[in-house]
Amino acid sequence: RDALGSLGKSRAKFISAEETTGVTFDDFAGQEYIKKELQEIVRILKNEEEFQDRGIYCPKGVLLHGPPGTGKTLLAKAIAGEAGLPFFAANGTDFVEMFVGVAAARVKDLFSTARSYAPSIIFIDEIDAIGSKRGGPDIGGGGAEREQGLLQILTEMDGFKVSTSQVLVIGATNRLDILDPALLRKGRFDKIIRVGLPSKDGRLAILQVHAKNKYFRSEIEKEVLLQEIAELTVDFTGAELQNILNEAAILTARKDLDFIGREELLEALKRQKGTFETGQEDSREMPEELKLRLAYREAAVAVLACFYPDPHHPFTDTDILSITSKPKMRYAEVSGRAFARKSDYVNSIVRACAPRVIEEEMFGIENLCWISAKATSDASTRAEVLILQTGMTAFGKGYYRNQSDLVPNLAAKLEALRSEYMRFAVEKCSSILREYRSAVETITDVLLEKGAINAEEIWDIFKKAPRIPQPHVYP
Ligand code: ADP
Repeated sequence: RDALGSLGKSRAKFISAEETTGVTFDDFAGQEYIKKELQEIVRILKNEEEFQDRGIYCPKGVLLHGPPGTGKTLLAKAIAGEAGLPFFAANGTDFVEMFVGVAAARVKDLFSTARSYAPSIIFIDEIDAIGSKRGGPDIGGGGAEREQGLLQILTEMDGFKVSTSQVLVIGATNRLDILDPALLRKGRFDKIIRVGLPSKDGRLAILQVHAKNKYFRSEIEKEVLLQEIAELTVDFTGAELQNILNEAAILTARKDLDFIGREELLEALKRQKGTFETGQEDSREMPEELKLRLAYREAAVAVLACFYPDPHHPFTDTDILSITSKPKMRYAEVSGRAFARKSDYVNSIVRACAPRVIEEEMFGIENLCWISAKATSDASTRAEVLILQTGMTAFGKGYYRNQSDLVPNLAAKLEALRSEYMRFAVEKCSSILREYRSAVETITDVLLEKGAINAEEIWDIFKKAPRIPQPHVYP
């Protein structure tokens, strides 16, 4: 083995190599279940032979997805650190260049380097830059080039033999939705882990990790202050929380003080998030009626999410709803991922109707506005996908639009079935929202009062709310 030191410079500038990262799972706070899953992988990596004797192999690829700054890179490094393996990192955007062939060549380089140090870890950040769906709109340009790179990744991963000392590939993205499904197939990135925004307890734990090397007047004061900051930082990422503490330390030094105090922390919090402040102000400046509509919309979406939990994106205590013009809750992504049954598709259509249904219910059909438009077209598209592409409906096998000349009256048949699904979805959704009217109202009140609510509180309200029985809705 050569020393890794010279590697980065000599052959491939885009690869950063570390013989050992020195990062451990203790450096990542909150979301304990993620660590548990990854610890399992580390155990397999460390005792490969013992596990192989029992027929257990390490996954070839792990995909971490979630917003930037939530600690995906940190987790990847922790896996390498805990397993004591060399770490080779690259960024998806580095692969995509103007020159033809560069992407594939760089992928090859990365893998062959990592393989020569196997067992080792490859980390590809922003893997969506190279691994987005093929054949989609080519927004950034360089489509063919990207495709070559993606194919090369697939080839490399398929080429690994599971039985020999292996290379574990960790990918990170905040755009799981645009990844090419081929990447997620078995034997590639078949372990998908969501790294979400931290809950209140998670935020406190993260603050505690990053406060370790900082000076406070006393342990008790430190605890009280961090508690307060954790309360005030709904929607903040780990990276942002770390910045708050660093900024507070700088302010403290600038004022020539010995200890970080409340004033410095609050000042740092303000600075950290222009958007935190403006976010608050935005919602204050928002016209009352718009605020009310947005709060009802989020509340309706939340109730539907509790009623039909999304198997692919379970609604957990790291999810937070707040009043902004962008919807916060995601709907089920029904294609390209794990196993989805017909009922999952249908439930996702029902869920997607919530914004429109609640708006009509509360404000009247004459007073609908743009805020539910996106959801409405989303519901309709879901119905179309179910009918045309899944082969799970009376339409039988998948038909595609461009076959319309082969199938007589295709458009009319499609339309009839689509409107039937939509009718059912709207009725079902209305019925659920009427049954849980009291939960919708309570969540709306909390949103209006506090501006945000997390999944834990929502579940609590949903479970405890009195229900108004509704007649059964039949498909
Ligand atoms: P991502 O890769 O998801 O964009 P990073 O891993 O680069 O995020 O996070 C940046 C920094 O933020 C980390 O190095 C770490 O210091 C801090 N951080 C983020 N999430 C956490 C967490 N859950 N626990 C502790 N520190 C965190």
